[in-house]
Amino acid sequence: MLEVKGLRVAYGPVEALKGVDLVVPKGRIVTLLGANGAGKSSTLNALVGLAPKKAGSVLFGGRDISGLAPEQIVRMGMTLTPEGRRIFPSLSVDENLLLGGAVHSARGAIGEVREDMLSRFPILKERLHQKAGSLSGGEQQMLAIARSMMSSPDLLLLDEPSLGLAPQVVDMIFELIAGLRAQGLTILLVEQNVSLSLEIADAGYVMANGKIVLSGTAAELRDSSEIQGAYLGA
Ligand code: ATP
Repeated sequence: MLEVKGLRVAYGPVEALKGVDLVVPKGRIVTLLGANGAGKSSTLNALVGLAPKKAGSVLFGGRDISGLAPEQIVRMGMTLTPEGRRIFPSLSVDENLLLGGAVHSARGAIGEVREDMLSRFPILKERLHQKAGSLSGGEQQMLAIARSMMSSPDLLLLDEPSLGLAPQVVDMIFELIAGLRAQGLTILLVEQNVSLSLEIADAGYVMANGKIVLSGTAAELRDSSEIQGAYLGA
């Protein structure tokens, strides 16, 4: 579904990505791991047209989207749930959802997509008219994911969905992510929680200093001495 080759990003003189290659097959969860500042968020942002790309190709469903604007990319079926959720706290849950549907791939009326979201995320239905800022952290993360899903994506990019959440809530969010894959969504997941990510992912990549330094199936990565030593505390 997604094939990235030689992706480079620079913020002025700061070279954040120095040639990233990765593949995300349809219907899979692929996780992107690495230390702070390795370039994970820059990768996701560049894929949706929000970071300054200097070189490389991004094939999405076989089409080169590397020159497209973010809203065109969203319309084609790729969307990002950003780090820190970025919901609008003073707007209601419903208003946040409807904003997520503003750029829509036109595969179904927005009202139907909203109904679908409310049945997938019943807690949001209960809180529909509450201000988003009054939700718990886990509920806000669900809202951020549901808002992204309002554009009916085929590929969802998730940046640090577990950030700042209590362990039980993190488990629930990860179950939800696995559930999205079961419904046919393809997911590229950036996470600090390496052990949980490798539990739900099919494959993964490890980044360091703007490059991919290790890749494999989730099982291979779990068993690798590099991952064990650096992230899993062995
Ligand atoms: P984190 O988990 O901390 O978000 P990351 O792996 O996602 O880390 P990036 O946020 O992609 O890493 O950052 C990669 C590099 O690019 C870092 O050196 C960072 O300081 C730099 N960088 C990121 N965004 C910007 C920006 N808007 N302007 C300048 N430099 C940036």
